Amino acid sequence: MNIAIDGPAGAGKSTVAKIVAARLQYVYIDTGAMYRALAWAVQREGIEVTDEQAVSRLLEKNRIRLARNQQEQLVFWNEIDITSEIRTPEVSQYASIVASHGEVRMQMLALQRELAKEGNVVMDGRDIGTHVLPNAEVKIFLTASIRERAERRLAELQAKGHETSLEELEAEIAERDKRDSEREVAPLKQAEDAVLVDTSGKTIDEVVEQILEICKRMGEKAK
Ligand code: C5P
Repeated sequence: MNIAIDGPAGAGKSTVAKIVAARLQYVYIDTGAMYRALAWAVQREGIEVTDEQAVSRLLEKNRIRLARNQQEQLVFWNEIDITSEIRTPEVSQYASIVASHGEVRMQMLALQRELAKEGNVVMDGRDIGTHVLPNAEVKIFLTASIRERAERRLAELQAKGHETSLEELEAEIAERDKRDSEREVAPLKQAEDAVLVDTSGKTIDEVVEQILEICKRMGEKAK
């Protein structure tokens, strides 16, 4: 079974997807981290982020690798561990710009399908249920109010020692959602057969249990 979890920024996708994957002993694949890795490299190389060809060539010539140790998911650009550098608001914005390029998305789609080809994956992103894994047995569209999403991001960033404010984060998230929803190629959108899960006011545990329940139901249906 494959499980696709999509939704806007800060809805709790990666937190929940990681736990669901662990509970089912599935492999967790964070596709946002792949766009973030490319964005990080674009910044490092001083490439113009709006230059589709240059950005796409950079991805073609390098390697993004997702791995994990006991504590966390790791992200590598070639052999460089960039795990702790890709979560800043600046990289978030750059990621959503590189993600609007059709050529970049085409390459990412191939990489992501390759990662999921063995099955039993939980993959989170924006276009997993609609484009990357359209045949996933379980599709979840995770959302929450913008205020709550910004509050969660603030707590996450503060825990890592980043300085920012709720207002700034709300604006950053709103801008990114708008860009992600309005882009021409594979925009952020709930798949027709996805189950909408609103995480506002719910604990992580409650959301995880709800998703596991949906997986169980779909799993039985698929038998
Ligand atoms: O999920 P995360 O916030 O890490 O994603 C960063 C950015 O990567 C998103 O704002 C979006 O533009 C892009 N993205 C995407 N498609 C995916 C995953 C992420 O366009 N499947």
